[in-house]
Amino acid sequence: MNNKKLLVLAGDGIGPECVQQALRVVDWFGRNRSLAFDIEEDLVGGAAYDVHGTSLADTTMQKAVDADAILFGSVGGPKWDGVPRDLRPENGLLRLRKRLDLFANLRPATVFPALAEASSLKTELVSGLDIMIIRELTGGVYFGEPKEITTLPDGSKRAVDSQIYTTREIARTARVAFDLARQRGNKVCSVEKSNVMETGVLWREVVSEIHRDEYPDINLSHMLADACAMQLLRAPKQFEIIVTDNLFGDMLSDEAAMLTGSIGMLPSASLGAPDAQGRRPALYEPCHGSAPDIAGQGIANPLAEILSFAMLLRYSFDLVGEAVLIETAVERVLDAGLRTGDIMQPGKTKVSTGAMGDAVLAQLDALAA
Ligand code: NAD
Repeated sequence: MNNKKLLVLAGDGIGPECVQQALRVVDWFGRNRSLAFDIEEDLVGGAAYDVHGTSLADTTMQKAVDADAILFGSVGGPKWDGVPRDLRPENGLLRLRKRLDLFANLRPATVFPALAEASSLKTELVSGLDIMIIRELTGGVYFGEPKEITTLPDGSKRAVDSQIYTTREIARTARVAFDLARQRGNKVCSVEKSNVMETGVLWREVVSEIHRDEYPDINLSHMLADACAMQLLRAPKQFEIIVTDNLFGDMLSDEAAMLTGSIGMLPSASLGAPDAQGRRPALYEPCHGSAPDIAGQGIANPLAEILSFAMLLRYSFDLVGEAVLIETAVERVLDAGLRTGDIMQPGKTKVSTGAMGDAVLAQLDALAA
């Protein structure tokens, strides 16, 4: 493989600590699998604000545009609470999503068998759970105009958010779900509120058309978002892939995350549209934030970041075997009883961020032997 360009944006709080462990895994593939990346590291979030007065410098944005994939840590923290909204750490990530048009957010909710007991649901309901939630990320009610609060003649106020979707926005998100279903379970559940929302009616119509015309081999079902919220708690293993809009995806992916028992274990991918050469902008990051309460103590769980690199290999470079290798190494580390504080259970061995990284590398060595 030619060297691929990887932009690493570690960010704030526990971001750099977790990214450091993921980069050891990147390095392992370079040494053991001749899988070399041209790695550039740069600042984002509060770390960038402290140096450049903005959460994402223009030069960094250009590197992001030029990169084959971005490995992201996390941004934000109380240090920057007083910073104006458009310069805030989180804004750097929002600008990246917008500029690269990262419209499809993939969030797996996977329960490693060794952690099934950490879920708030009964073990048998979640053990072996492996759902993928695909959330439309750049449209819908978070971005629709008008979006405003106005003062009425009587002095009271009126707030408006506009939920807007076009055929194109729905179709491209549906295609991501159907393409993925061909590699994974062959089953998609499309979720909206077509009983009370016009955007829901269009969502269902467009998903159905794309399915009929392009993916008739996939098993497609439709579900109302409120019913899906219930079914995720009642019988989560009925789902393989859920595809939904920005607002419902926000809620449902957080709900699914809680089924797994730990935010420190969950990776994610945000994908854009492929260009004429098939090159697709993509950003990979853990679902957790910068965890300022534990930053700098060497106790953060680096597995979500390491698993984000596995997603990067799988979705940006089609290196499925390599991704599975990382996922298997993580599973074995957990089976061996090693835990960071966030996933600690009675009778297990509590380890630091670095020791968790050591253990993943040791398992990779063992698997490769
Ligand atoms: P958080 O995910 O940072 O932390 C929530 C809780 O989970 C904390 O108690 C934290 O210690 C724990 N936790 C999270 N990740 C962990 C890990 N890898 N290992 C061990 N424990 C972990 O969410 P929050 O506290 O709501 O937000 C903190 C900051 O992060 C805020 O500034 C927020 O804006 C930002 N944030 C950033 C992103 C992002 O970069 N994409 C996402 C969410 C929140």
